[in-house]
Formats: sequence, C-alpha cells, structure tokens
Amino acid sequence: MIPFVDLHTQYQRIKPEINAAVASVLESGRFVLGPEVVGFEKEFAAYCQARHAIGVNSGTSALHLALLAAGIGPGDEVITTSFTFVATVAAIRYTGARPVFVDIDPHSYTIDVRQIEGAVTKRTKAIIPVHLYGQPADMDALLDIARQHDLVVIEDAAQAHGALYKGRRVGSIGDLGCFSFYPGKNLGAYGEGGMVVTNNARYVHAVQLLRDWGAEHKYCHKIQGYNYRLEALQAAILRVKLRYLEEWTESRRSHAVRYDELLADSDVQTPVVMPYARHVYHVYAIRTAHRDSLQQALYDCGIQTGIHYPIPVHLQPAHADLGYRRGSLPHAEQAADEVLSLPMFAELTATQIEHVAASVRVASPSGVSV
Ligand SMILES: *Cc1c(COP(=O)(O)O)cnc(C)c1O
Repeated sequence: MIPFVDLHTQYQRIKPEINAAVASVLESGRFVLGPEVVGFEKEFAAYCQARHAIGVNSGTSALHLALLAAGIGPGDEVITTSFTFVATVAAIRYTGARPVFVDIDPHSYTIDVRQIEGAVTKRTKAIIPVHLYGQPADMDALLDIARQHDLVVIEDAAQAHGALYKGRRVGSIGDLGCFSFYPGKNLGAYGEGGMVVTNNARYVHAVQLLRDWGAEHKYCHKIQGYNYRLEALQAAILRVKLRYLEEWTESRRSHAVRYDELLADSDVQTPVVMPYARHVYHVYAIRTAHRDSLQQALYDCGIQTGIHYPIPVHLQPAHADLGYRRGSLPHAEQAADEVLSLPMFAELTATQIEHVAASVRVASPSGVSV
C-alpha cells in the first residue's frame, strides 16, 4: 500500500531529536506558552521573513484571532474563496461577519483576483486569499484592490509554509498571515498548533491577549479572550522539524517534477505552477473528468489518494444559510468534481512515484482498465 501521507517514516528519521525535545519539556514543567513557544515564535517569524509571530493552538484559531485583531465583527463582510478547507470560512463566521465568495482561477485554484473588485461593498472589511495546495494566490493584484478600498489582507497560509510569491515568503505579504501545524501539514506538530505572523506591531498585542483569556496580567482580563494557547510540547517538536522544512520542501518539489514528467501527455492534467510562485506541494492535485473511477482504480492498485475538496464550502449544508446555490461559483464546483490528490510527502521513493504515475496512466480513460 502506498499511503497518501506517511508520518511514521518521518518520525523514524528524526526520532532521537524529537524524543530529546519532548523529554526536555517534560523535565521543565512548563507546558503551556513559556520559553519553548517564545523560541519557536522567533524562529518561525525569521523563517517567514516576518517581524512577529504569535503561537496559537490551531490554524483555525490563528484565522479567528487575525480577524478579531483586525477589528472584524458583525455587519462586516470578508471576501474569500469557497474552494478551501471549511476552517477559512468558519473563522469568518465565528466573528459574526459574513463570508462573500469569489470564484477561483481554474488554473491555479486560488481566488480569481479579477473578480474581487465586483464583490466589494460598503461593508467589506477584509480579504482572505488561500494559498491552496501550497501555491500562493496572486498577491500583487489583490493588495492593489485592498489598498484602493482600505481592506485588511489576511493570508490563509495553512498549506503553504515556505511558499514564495515573487521571491517573498507567504504569510508576511498581507497584513497578517495564518499557519496551521496540524500533523499532515508541510510543517506538522504531533497534535494541534497554529501561528499568526505579521510585520505590523499593532496586531501583536491584540493576538497575544486574545489567545490567553484577554489577560494582560494573571487574572486581570482586559478583554474577552479565548484559550487558544500553543503548548510547549508542540513548540519543542516544531522547532526540531523547522530545521528540516527546507529539505523536506525540496523533496516535495522534486517529487512533483517527477510526477509532471511521468504524467506529461497523459489524459490527466498536472498542476499548473504560476510564473510568480514557488509551489510547496502540500497537495499534488491532478485533474480529470473521470476522477471517481480513477480514484477507485488507484485504490485497487494499492494507492491511497485524497480529494481536496469534494464539496466547495458554499454548497456545504453548514453554510446553506448564506444563500449560494449550485451554479454560483462554476469553477470551484467543477474543480471539486475533478481534482484528485496523489500521494505526496518528503519520504516518497522513486519507485513509489513511478508506480503511482504508471497506475494513473493505465487507469485513465484511454488506458485499459477504465
Ligand atoms: C488545515 C487548514 C486550516 C485549519 O487549520 P487547523 O490547524 O486544522 O485548525 C485552515 N485553512 C486551510 C486552507 C487549511 O488547510
């Protein structure tokens, strides 16, 4: 069986360092925030070319607090994409603001910047581009619109640790950037974790207060806050893993090149890399009108795949009250029917990649089995 992701092999390779980091936290007796979290915040900020980073307990919490720190609340509208993990939209709704969806560019799968202007109203306060699959959204065009209309830009970089837009790290290009350290992400904890990064000092104190019960000093609650603190164990683990992130990202990128070569001139469409992007391949998604039968055929060959995502957020029952219908966002809807994510993780072997690609070719429409 070729798994979709393999966290076990990665752990085996870094086990002594991880186990030492865990033991050191257990010995320290500091389990929530504290020096490991501060150390990781400094190192992650530097990695993102950002001045500040604030550790939180998930990517969802990062998005929620970035929105609150930017002053978003009831009556406001936030423009985003429907072709994303549901957390992007949930975080907007937690604040009481209304998500407004713009369709995707069908090549990059990120928000279609040409359609943003048409969605801006008097109530619009922010835009959340999602760097989907590890490929940056077109930030320059988006920042231009944001400047014209005085909108805050919050990057959802949960899938894009280390991705570059015109040579700059994602997360530090907009006003605030949000990362997830869910285990399967490119930089993953052994549990939950997240980070808000920013170059703007005015947001830092707000996010720090909000993640820890709004308390400036112990038991003195300046504002209503949350228990969104990052754990020391996760921070210590993430500090070890951060040292390997570039190496792992380069492995993902070379696996993607190999998939591209092996699937060239096949019946599936390989990912389109935008000229401005360093894609970090959180997901390597191919595209075909025969997605479901291809997924089944690959499963029968012992290959696990994923679908990111089968139902765009505007068609989810949980968000039906927003009033969108099938047909509202045709490119997002078609992508949801056609994308298929192939196994992608740093430790994939050449033989595994060849087996996956050969199986895709055989199982595709002009091949023998479908
Ligand atoms: C994973 C993810 C999130 C949420 O992160 P969690 O750490 O799981 O809360 C948000 N947005 C996107 C695009 C994601 O992939």
